[in-house]
Amino acid sequence: MDPVKKYVQEQKDRFVKELAGFLRIPSVSAKSERREACRQAADFLLQELGRLGFSTSLHETPGHPIVTASRMDDPAQPTVLIYGHYDVQPEEPLDLWTSPPFEPRIVNGNLYARGASDDKGQLYAHIKAVETLIRTEGKLPVNVTFLLEGEEEIASTHLEAFIEENREILQGDVAVISDSSQYGPGMPAICYGLRGICADEIRVQGANRDLHSGSYGGAVPNPCNVLCEIIAKLKDETGRIQIPGFYEDVLELEAWEREAFAALAGDDEDFRRQLGVAGLHGEEGYTTLERKWARPTLDVNGLFGGYSGEGAKTIIPAWAGAKITMRLVPNQQPDKIRHLFREYVRRVAPAYVTVSFVDHSGGGPVRIPRDAPFMNTAVQALEYGFGRKPVFIREGGSIPVVSTLERKLGLKTLLLGFGLPDDNAHAPDEKFSLADYERGILTSARFLQLCAKTAGAETR
Ligand SMILES: [Zn+2]
Repeated sequence: MDPVKKYVQEQKDRFVKELAGFLRIPSVSAKSERREACRQAADFLLQELGRLGFSTSLHETPGHPIVTASRMDDPAQPTVLIYGHYDVQPEEPLDLWTSPPFEPRIVNGNLYARGASDDKGQLYAHIKAVETLIRTEGKLPVNVTFLLEGEEEIASTHLEAFIEENREILQGDVAVISDSSQYGPGMPAICYGLRGICADEIRVQGANRDLHSGSYGGAVPNPCNVLCEIIAKLKDETGRIQIPGFYEDVLELEAWEREAFAALAGDDEDFRRQLGVAGLHGEEGYTTLERKWARPTLDVNGLFGGYSGEGAKTIIPAWAGAKITMRLVPNQQPDKIRHLFREYVRRVAPAYVTVSFVDHSGGGPVRIPRDAPFMNTAVQALEYGFGRKPVFIREGGSIPVVSTLERKLGLKTLLLGFGLPDDNAHAPDEKFSLADYERGILTSARFLQLCAKTAGAETR
Protein backbone atom coordinates (compact mmCIF):
# COMPACT_ATOMS: atom_id res chain seq x y z
CA MET A 1 0.00 0.00 0.00
CA ASP A 2 1.35 3.45 -0.77
CA PRO A 3 2.54 5.37 2.29
CA VAL A 4 -0.12 8.08 1.95
CA LYS A 5 -3.00 5.60 1.93
CA LYS A 6 -1.38 3.65 4.75
CA TYR A 7 -0.95 6.72 6.97
CA VAL A 8 -4.51 7.90 6.35
CA GLN A 9 -5.83 4.42 7.20
CA GLU A 10 -3.85 4.30 10.43
CA GLN A 11 -4.69 7.81 11.55
CA LYS A 12 -8.31 7.88 10.41
CA ASP A 13 -9.91 7.74 13.87
CA ARG A 14 -7.73 10.51 15.21
CA PHE A 15 -8.46 12.61 12.09
CA VAL A 16 -12.18 12.30 12.84
CA LYS A 17 -11.73 13.11 16.52
CA GLU A 18 -9.74 16.21 15.72
CA LEU A 19 -12.29 17.39 13.18
CA ALA A 20 -14.99 16.91 15.81
CA GLY A 21 -13.01 19.19 18.12
CA PHE A 22 -13.00 21.87 15.44
CA LEU A 23 -16.75 21.43 14.86
CA ARG A 24 -17.48 21.86 18.54
CA ILE A 25 -16.48 25.53 18.30
CA PRO A 26 -19.70 27.44 17.49
CA SER A 27 -18.09 29.93 15.08
CA VAL A 28 -21.22 31.54 13.64
CA SER A 29 -19.91 34.68 11.99
CA ALA A 30 -23.32 36.36 11.68
CA LYS A 31 -23.87 36.56 15.45
CA SER A 32 -22.05 39.14 17.51
CA GLU A 33 -22.27 36.95 20.62
CA ARG A 34 -20.18 34.33 18.79
CA ARG A 35 -17.28 36.69 18.22
CA GLU A 36 -15.14 34.87 20.78
CA ALA A 37 -16.00 31.49 19.23
CA CYS A 38 -14.86 32.72 15.83
CA ARG A 39 -11.55 33.76 17.35
CA GLN A 40 -11.28 30.36 19.01
CA ALA A 41 -11.78 28.62 15.64
CA ALA A 42 -9.06 30.82 14.12
CA ASP A 43 -6.75 29.94 17.03
CA PHE A 44 -7.48 26.26 16.57
CA LEU A 45 -6.25 26.44 12.96
CA LEU A 46 -3.30 28.59 13.88
CA GLN A 47 -2.11 26.12 16.47
CA GLU A 48 -2.61 23.08 14.31
CA LEU A 49 -0.76 24.54 11.34
CA GLY A 50 1.95 25.85 13.64
CA ARG A 51 2.50 22.32 14.94
CA LEU A 52 2.91 21.16 11.33
CA GLY A 53 5.80 23.57 10.83
CA PHE A 54 3.90 26.29 8.98
CA SER A 55 4.73 29.90 9.68
CA THR A 56 1.40 31.23 10.79
CA SER A 57 -0.16 34.65 11.32
CA LEU A 58 -3.42 35.85 12.74
CA HIS A 59 -4.54 39.00 10.96
CA GLU A 60 -7.06 41.19 12.71
CA THR A 61 -9.84 42.72 10.63
CA PRO A 62 -12.72 44.94 11.75
CA GLY A 63 -14.69 41.66 11.71
CA HIS A 64 -13.34 38.17 12.34
CA PRO A 65 -9.63 37.41 12.00
CA ILE A 66 -7.97 35.89 8.95
CA VAL A 67 -5.42 33.11 9.35
CA THR A 68 -2.53 32.64 6.95
CA ALA A 69 0.01 29.85 7.14
CA SER A 70 2.76 28.90 4.75
CA ARG A 71 5.42 26.30 4.37
CA MET A 72 7.97 26.90 1.65
CA ASP A 73 9.88 23.65 1.46
CA ASP A 74 11.40 24.24 -1.96
CA PRO A 75 11.38 27.61 -3.69
CA ALA A 76 11.87 25.88 -7.05
CA GLN A 77 8.50 24.15 -6.70
CA PRO A 78 5.11 25.69 -7.42
CA THR A 79 3.06 27.19 -4.61
CA VAL A 80 -0.49 26.05 -4.01
CA LEU A 81 -2.81 28.45 -2.20
CA ILE A 82 -5.53 26.64 -0.25
CA TYR A 83 -8.50 28.70 0.82
CA GLY A 84 -11.13 27.70 3.36
CA HIS A 85 -13.46 29.30 5.88
CA TYR A 86 -13.79 28.50 9.56
CA ASP A 87 -17.04 30.37 10.09
CA VAL A 88 -20.40 28.64 9.82
CA GLN A 89 -24.02 29.54 9.17
CA PRO A 90 -26.37 30.22 12.09
CA GLU A 91 -27.70 26.96 13.50
CA GLU A 92 -31.39 27.92 13.61
CA PRO A 93 -34.01 26.45 13.51
CA LEU A 94 -32.70 24.42 16.45
CA ASP A 95 -35.78 22.24 16.86
CA LEU A 96 -35.20 20.69 13.43
CA TRP A 97 -31.80 19.27 14.41
CA THR A 98 -31.81 15.63 15.49
CA SER A 99 -28.89 16.32 17.84
CA PRO A 100 -27.37 19.64 18.97
CA PRO A 101 -25.50 21.35 16.11
CA PHE A 102 -22.27 21.89 18.01
CA GLU A 103 -22.09 18.42 19.56
CA PRO A 104 -20.74 16.34 16.66
CA ARG A 105 -22.20 12.86 16.33
CA ILE A 106 -21.48 9.97 14.00
CA VAL A 107 -24.50 8.18 12.62
CA ASN A 108 -24.25 5.66 9.75
CA GLY A 109 -20.82 6.83 8.67
CA ASN A 110 -21.80 10.49 8.64
CA LEU A 111 -20.49 13.14 10.98
CA TYR A 112 -23.34 15.48 11.95
CA ALA A 113 -22.62 19.06 13.07
CA ARG A 114 -22.95 22.62 11.82
CA GLY A 115 -19.97 23.22 9.54
CA ALA A 116 -19.26 19.49 9.04
CA SER A 117 -19.34 19.95 5.28
CA ASP A 118 -19.46 23.75 4.88
CA ASP A 119 -16.65 24.29 5.29
CA LYS A 120 -14.77 23.04 8.33
CA GLY A 121 -14.70 19.39 7.28
CA GLN A 122 -13.60 20.13 3.75
CA LEU A 123 -10.92 22.62 4.72
CA TYR A 124 -9.69 20.31 7.44
CA ALA A 125 -9.24 17.53 4.87
CA HIS A 126 -6.52 19.70 3.29
CA ILE A 127 -4.84 20.21 6.65
CA LYS A 128 -4.83 16.46 7.26
CA ALA A 129 -3.44 15.97 3.73
CA VAL A 130 -0.45 18.21 4.44
CA GLU A 131 0.02 16.44 7.77
CA THR A 132 0.03 13.11 5.93
CA LEU A 133 2.66 14.29 3.44
CA ILE A 134 4.86 15.85 6.09
CA ARG A 135 4.72 12.71 8.26
CA THR A 136 5.29 10.28 5.39
CA GLU A 137 7.75 12.22 3.22
CA GLY A 138 9.37 14.47 5.80
CA LYS A 139 8.42 17.56 3.81
CA LEU A 140 5.86 18.92 1.39
CA PRO A 141 6.38 18.21 -2.32
CA VAL A 142 5.30 21.78 -3.19
CA ASN A 143 4.96 25.02 -1.27
CA VAL A 144 1.64 25.52 0.42
CA THR A 145 -0.07 28.64 1.71
CA PHE A 146 -3.35 28.49 3.61
CA LEU A 147 -5.71 31.43 3.52
CA LEU A 148 -8.48 30.82 6.07
CA GLU A 149 -11.14 33.37 6.76
CA GLY A 150 -14.01 33.71 9.23
CA GLU A 151 -16.48 35.78 7.27
CA GLU A 152 -17.39 33.69 4.23
CA GLU A 153 -20.95 33.24 5.42
CA ILE A 154 -21.35 36.99 5.80
CA ALA A 155 -20.08 37.85 2.32
CA SER A 156 -16.32 37.87 3.08
CA THR A 157 -16.59 41.50 4.07
CA HIS A 158 -12.92 42.11 4.85
CA LEU A 159 -11.22 39.54 2.68
CA GLU A 160 -10.79 41.53 -0.49
CA ALA A 161 -9.01 44.41 1.26
CA PHE A 162 -6.85 41.89 3.09
CA ILE A 163 -5.82 40.15 -0.12
CA GLU A 164 -5.11 43.50 -1.74
CA GLU A 165 -2.82 44.50 1.13
CA ASN A 166 -1.10 41.14 1.49
CA ARG A 167 -0.39 40.21 -2.10
CA GLU A 168 3.24 39.18 -1.45
CA ILE A 169 2.41 36.53 1.14
CA LEU A 170 -0.40 35.15 -1.02
CA GLN A 171 1.54 34.63 -4.23
CA GLY A 172 1.00 31.26 -5.78
CA ASP A 173 0.62 29.28 -8.98
CA VAL A 174 -2.86 27.95 -8.43
CA ALA A 175 -5.60 28.15 -5.82
CA VAL A 176 -7.61 25.24 -4.46
CA ILE A 177 -10.92 25.51 -2.67
CA SER A 178 -13.04 22.71 -1.32
CA ASP A 179 -16.29 24.41 -0.43
CA SER A 180 -18.62 22.84 -2.97
CA SER A 181 -19.80 19.30 -3.54
CA GLN A 182 -19.43 16.18 -5.61
CA TYR A 183 -22.06 15.76 -8.24
CA GLY A 184 -23.48 12.82 -6.35
CA PRO A 185 -22.29 10.00 -4.09
CA GLY A 186 -19.10 8.59 -5.60
CA MET A 187 -19.27 11.12 -8.45
CA PRO A 188 -16.40 13.53 -7.89
CA ALA A 189 -16.65 16.80 -9.74
CA ILE A 190 -14.64 19.80 -10.73
CA CYS A 191 -16.73 22.92 -10.62
CA TYR A 192 -15.82 25.34 -13.41
CA GLY A 193 -18.49 27.97 -12.86
CA LEU A 194 -20.04 29.76 -9.92
CA ARG A 195 -22.84 32.23 -9.64
CA GLY A 196 -22.14 35.59 -8.10
CA ILE A 197 -24.43 37.38 -5.70
CA CYS A 198 -25.89 40.77 -5.04
CA ALA A 199 -27.60 41.08 -1.65
CA ASP A 200 -29.76 44.08 -0.84
CA GLU A 201 -32.50 45.11 1.54
CA ILE A 202 -35.53 47.27 0.83
CA ARG A 203 -37.06 49.37 3.59
CA VAL A 204 -40.47 50.94 3.09
CA GLN A 205 -41.45 53.64 5.57
CA GLY A 206 -45.02 54.85 6.02
CA ALA A 207 -46.25 56.89 9.01
CA ASN A 208 -43.92 57.88 11.84
CA ARG A 209 -45.44 55.22 14.13
CA ASP A 210 -47.70 52.16 14.08
CA LEU A 211 -51.31 53.28 13.74
CA HIS A 212 -54.69 51.86 14.81
CA SER A 213 -55.97 50.04 11.73
CA GLY A 214 -59.57 50.98 12.59
CA SER A 215 -59.03 54.67 13.20
CA TYR A 216 -56.51 55.24 10.40
CA GLY A 217 -56.96 52.26 8.05
CA GLY A 218 -57.90 53.19 4.51
CA ALA A 219 -56.52 56.72 4.77
CA VAL A 220 -52.78 56.11 5.11
CA PRO A 221 -50.41 53.84 3.17
CA ASN A 222 -49.62 50.45 4.64
CA PRO A 223 -45.89 49.73 4.10
CA CYS A 224 -46.43 45.97 4.32
CA ASN A 225 -48.96 46.09 1.49
CA VAL A 226 -46.80 48.47 -0.54
CA LEU A 227 -43.73 46.29 -0.11
CA CYS A 228 -45.66 43.28 -1.42
CA GLU A 229 -46.79 45.30 -4.43
CA ILE A 230 -43.20 46.27 -5.16
CA ILE A 231 -42.01 42.69 -4.83
CA ALA A 232 -44.77 41.47 -7.12
CA LYS A 233 -43.36 43.69 -9.86
CA LEU A 234 -39.84 42.25 -9.67
CA LYS A 235 -40.69 39.08 -11.65
CA ASP A 236 -43.40 38.01 -14.03
CA GLU A 237 -45.27 34.72 -13.89
CA THR A 238 -42.82 33.03 -16.29
CA GLY A 239 -40.02 33.63 -13.81
CA ARG A 240 -38.48 36.41 -15.87
CA ILE A 241 -36.95 39.24 -13.83
CA GLN A 242 -38.49 42.58 -14.82
CA ILE A 243 -35.63 44.93 -13.96
CA PRO A 244 -34.61 46.68 -17.18
CA GLY A 245 -31.06 45.76 -18.22
CA PHE A 246 -30.88 42.86 -15.76
CA TYR A 247 -30.08 40.25 -18.43
CA GLU A 248 -27.88 42.51 -20.55
CA ASP A 249 -24.51 40.95 -19.56
CA VAL A 250 -25.68 37.36 -19.17
CA LEU A 251 -23.41 34.91 -20.97
CA GLU A 252 -25.72 32.46 -22.69
CA LEU A 253 -25.04 28.76 -22.29
CA GLU A 254 -22.91 27.21 -24.99
CA ALA A 255 -24.21 24.21 -26.89
CA TRP A 256 -21.68 21.82 -25.30
CA GLU A 257 -22.73 22.97 -21.85
CA ARG A 258 -26.41 22.36 -22.49
CA GLU A 259 -25.48 18.90 -23.74
CA ALA A 260 -23.21 18.16 -20.77
CA PHE A 261 -25.85 19.40 -18.33
CA ALA A 262 -28.47 17.24 -20.03
CA ALA A 263 -26.23 14.18 -19.62
CA LEU A 264 -25.95 14.89 -15.89
CA ALA A 265 -29.59 15.78 -15.38
CA GLY A 266 -31.51 13.91 -12.73
CA ASP A 267 -35.20 13.20 -12.74
CA ASP A 268 -37.26 16.35 -12.10
CA GLU A 269 -40.04 14.35 -10.51
CA ASP A 270 -37.60 12.78 -8.03
CA PHE A 271 -36.17 16.18 -7.28
CA ARG A 272 -39.65 17.57 -6.68
CA ARG A 273 -40.62 14.70 -4.42
CA GLN A 274 -37.39 14.89 -2.37
CA LEU A 275 -38.10 18.54 -1.65
CA GLY A 276 -41.73 17.91 -0.83
CA VAL A 277 -42.76 20.83 -3.02
CA ALA A 278 -46.05 20.79 -4.95
CA GLY A 279 -44.34 21.74 -8.20
CA LEU A 280 -41.05 23.00 -9.59
CA HIS A 281 -40.95 26.54 -10.88
CA GLY A 282 -38.32 28.62 -12.62
CA GLU A 283 -37.47 30.68 -15.64
CA GLU A 284 -39.24 29.39 -18.73
CA GLY A 285 -37.14 27.80 -21.46
CA TYR A 286 -34.48 26.34 -19.17
CA THR A 287 -33.98 22.97 -17.52
CA THR A 288 -33.61 22.53 -13.77
CA LEU A 289 -29.81 22.27 -13.97
CA GLU A 290 -29.59 25.28 -16.26
CA ARG A 291 -31.76 27.27 -13.87
CA LYS A 292 -29.63 26.27 -10.89
CA TRP A 293 -26.20 26.66 -12.49
CA ALA A 294 -26.31 29.16 -15.27
CA ARG A 295 -29.31 31.48 -14.97
CA PRO A 296 -29.60 34.50 -12.69
CA THR A 297 -32.21 34.66 -9.92
CA LEU A 298 -34.01 37.12 -7.70
CA ASP A 299 -35.33 35.85 -4.39
CA VAL A 300 -36.89 37.32 -1.29
CA ASN A 301 -35.04 35.77 1.65
CA GLY A 302 -37.10 37.36 4.37
CA LEU A 303 -40.02 39.71 4.83
CA PHE A 304 -40.57 41.65 8.00
CA GLY A 305 -42.64 44.42 9.48
CA GLY A 306 -45.85 44.78 11.44
CA TYR A 307 -47.07 42.27 13.96
CA SER A 308 -46.37 38.55 13.66
CA GLY A 309 -46.81 37.47 17.27
CA GLU A 310 -49.62 35.41 18.73
CA GLY A 311 -53.20 36.38 18.01
CA ALA A 312 -54.30 39.50 16.18
CA LYS A 313 -53.01 43.02 16.51
CA THR A 314 -54.87 45.62 14.52
CA ILE A 315 -52.23 48.01 13.29
CA ILE A 316 -51.07 49.78 10.16
CA PRO A 317 -47.34 49.14 10.57
CA ALA A 318 -45.01 52.11 10.32
CA TRP A 319 -42.55 50.26 8.13
CA ALA A 320 -41.75 47.03 6.33
CA GLY A 321 -38.60 45.44 4.98
CA ALA A 322 -37.40 42.65 2.72
CA LYS A 323 -34.04 40.98 2.27
CA ILE A 324 -33.37 40.18 -1.34
CA THR A 325 -30.60 38.27 -3.05
CA MET A 326 -29.92 38.04 -6.72
CA ARG A 327 -27.68 35.21 -7.90
CA LEU A 328 -25.63 36.39 -10.84
CA VAL A 329 -24.06 34.54 -13.74
CA PRO A 330 -21.06 35.41 -15.92
CA ASN A 331 -20.66 38.31 -16.88
CA GLN A 332 -23.14 40.16 -14.63
CA GLN A 333 -21.49 42.48 -12.12
CA PRO A 334 -22.94 43.01 -8.64
CA ASP A 335 -22.50 46.80 -8.54
CA LYS A 336 -24.27 47.30 -11.82
CA ILE A 337 -27.08 44.92 -10.85
CA ARG A 338 -27.55 46.65 -7.49
CA HIS A 339 -27.83 49.98 -9.26
CA LEU A 340 -30.40 48.64 -11.75
CA PHE A 341 -32.36 46.93 -8.96
CA ARG A 342 -32.62 50.07 -6.83
CA GLU A 343 -33.45 52.28 -9.76
CA TYR A 344 -36.31 49.97 -10.69
CA VAL A 345 -37.65 49.66 -7.12
CA ARG A 346 -37.62 53.44 -6.73
CA ARG A 347 -39.46 53.76 -10.00
CA VAL A 348 -42.23 51.28 -9.16
CA ALA A 349 -42.63 52.42 -5.53
CA PRO A 350 -45.53 54.85 -4.99
CA ALA A 351 -44.64 58.41 -3.97
CA TYR A 352 -46.64 58.16 -0.73
CA VAL A 353 -44.01 55.98 0.98
CA THR A 354 -40.29 56.46 1.56
CA VAL A 355 -38.01 53.76 0.21
CA SER A 356 -34.46 53.17 1.35
CA PHE A 357 -31.92 50.38 0.88
CA VAL A 358 -29.26 48.56 2.83
CA ASP A 359 -26.30 47.15 0.95
CA HIS A 360 -25.57 43.58 2.07
CA SER A 361 -22.65 43.23 -0.30
CA GLY A 362 -21.99 41.04 -3.29
CA GLY A 363 -19.49 39.09 -5.32
CA GLY A 364 -18.87 38.43 -8.96
CA PRO A 365 -19.64 35.22 -10.87
CA VAL A 366 -16.83 33.01 -12.13
CA ARG A 367 -16.05 30.74 -15.05
CA ILE A 368 -12.78 28.78 -15.03
CA PRO A 369 -11.50 27.59 -18.39
CA ARG A 370 -11.10 23.86 -18.87
CA ASP A 371 -7.44 24.37 -19.83
CA ALA A 372 -6.56 26.33 -16.67
CA PRO A 373 -3.20 25.45 -15.05
CA PHE A 374 -3.23 22.26 -12.97
CA MET A 375 -6.74 21.35 -14.14
CA ASN A 376 -5.53 17.96 -15.39
CA THR A 377 -3.58 17.46 -12.19
CA ALA A 378 -6.82 17.92 -10.27
CA VAL A 379 -8.56 15.40 -12.51
CA GLN A 380 -5.88 12.81 -11.71
CA ALA A 381 -5.91 13.59 -8.00
CA LEU A 382 -9.68 13.16 -7.76
CA GLU A 383 -9.42 9.92 -9.66
CA TYR A 384 -6.89 8.71 -7.09
CA GLY A 385 -8.92 9.86 -4.09
CA PHE A 386 -12.36 8.79 -5.27
CA GLY A 387 -11.47 5.96 -7.63
CA ARG A 388 -13.38 7.60 -10.44
CA LYS A 389 -12.82 10.36 -13.03
CA PRO A 390 -14.53 13.63 -12.09
CA VAL A 391 -17.32 15.25 -14.10
CA PHE A 392 -17.31 18.96 -14.93
CA ILE A 393 -20.12 20.87 -13.27
CA ARG A 394 -21.19 24.38 -12.36
CA GLU A 395 -22.55 25.47 -9.04
CA GLY A 396 -25.44 27.77 -8.26
CA GLY A 397 -23.92 29.13 -5.09
CA SER A 398 -21.36 31.84 -4.72
CA ILE A 399 -17.80 31.73 -3.47
CA PRO A 400 -16.85 35.40 -3.89
CA VAL A 401 -13.21 34.75 -3.04
CA VAL A 402 -12.76 32.93 -6.35
CA SER A 403 -13.27 36.10 -8.34
CA THR A 404 -11.19 38.07 -5.83
CA LEU A 405 -8.26 35.65 -6.20
CA GLU A 406 -8.42 36.03 -9.94
CA ARG A 407 -8.67 39.81 -9.94
CA LYS A 408 -6.14 40.54 -7.18
CA LEU A 409 -3.63 37.71 -7.53
CA GLY A 410 -4.17 36.46 -11.06
CA LEU A 411 -4.89 33.00 -9.67
CA LYS A 412 -7.18 30.47 -11.25
CA THR A 413 -9.04 28.41 -8.69
CA LEU A 414 -9.73 24.70 -8.80
CA LEU A 415 -12.94 23.90 -6.99
CA LEU A 416 -12.64 20.38 -5.69
CA GLY A 417 -15.80 19.60 -3.80
CA PHE A 418 -15.55 16.77 -1.29
CA GLY A 419 -19.05 17.18 0.15
CA LEU A 420 -22.37 15.88 -1.15
CA PRO A 421 -25.33 17.85 -2.46
CA ASP A 422 -27.47 16.49 0.40
CA ASP A 423 -25.03 17.41 3.17
CA ASN A 424 -27.59 19.97 4.42
CA ALA A 425 -25.20 22.89 4.22
CA HIS A 426 -26.89 25.96 5.76
CA ALA A 427 -29.70 23.70 7.04
CA PRO A 428 -30.49 21.55 10.08
CA ASP A 429 -28.67 18.19 10.39
CA GLU A 430 -25.66 19.29 8.37
CA LYS A 431 -23.37 16.30 7.80
CA PHE A 432 -20.17 15.16 6.13
CA SER A 433 -19.58 11.56 5.14
CA LEU A 434 -16.50 10.13 6.83
CA ALA A 435 -15.69 8.24 3.62
CA ASP A 436 -15.69 11.55 1.74
CA TYR A 437 -13.54 13.14 4.41
CA GLU A 438 -10.99 10.38 3.84
CA ARG A 439 -11.26 10.63 0.04
CA GLY A 440 -10.80 14.38 0.34
CA ILE A 441 -7.60 13.90 2.34
CA LEU A 442 -6.26 11.44 -0.26
CA THR A 443 -7.22 13.72 -3.15
CA SER A 444 -5.55 16.75 -1.61
CA ALA A 445 -2.36 14.83 -0.78
CA ARG A 446 -2.20 13.41 -4.30
CA PHE A 447 -2.84 16.79 -5.85
CA LEU A 448 0.08 18.34 -3.98
CA GLN A 449 2.33 15.43 -4.98
CA LEU A 450 1.36 15.74 -8.64
CA CYS A 451 1.85 19.51 -8.65
CA ALA A 452 5.54 19.01 -7.95
CA LYS A 453 7.78 19.39 -10.94
CA THR A 454 10.03 16.43 -11.49
CA ALA A 455 13.50 16.95 -12.91
CA GLY A 456 13.40 17.26 -16.66
CA ALA A 457 9.63 17.08 -16.85
CA GLU A 458 7.06 19.77 -17.35
CA THR A 459 4.34 20.22 -14.77
CA ARG A 460 2.16 17.19 -14.98
ZN1 LIG B 1 -18.84 27.46 2.62
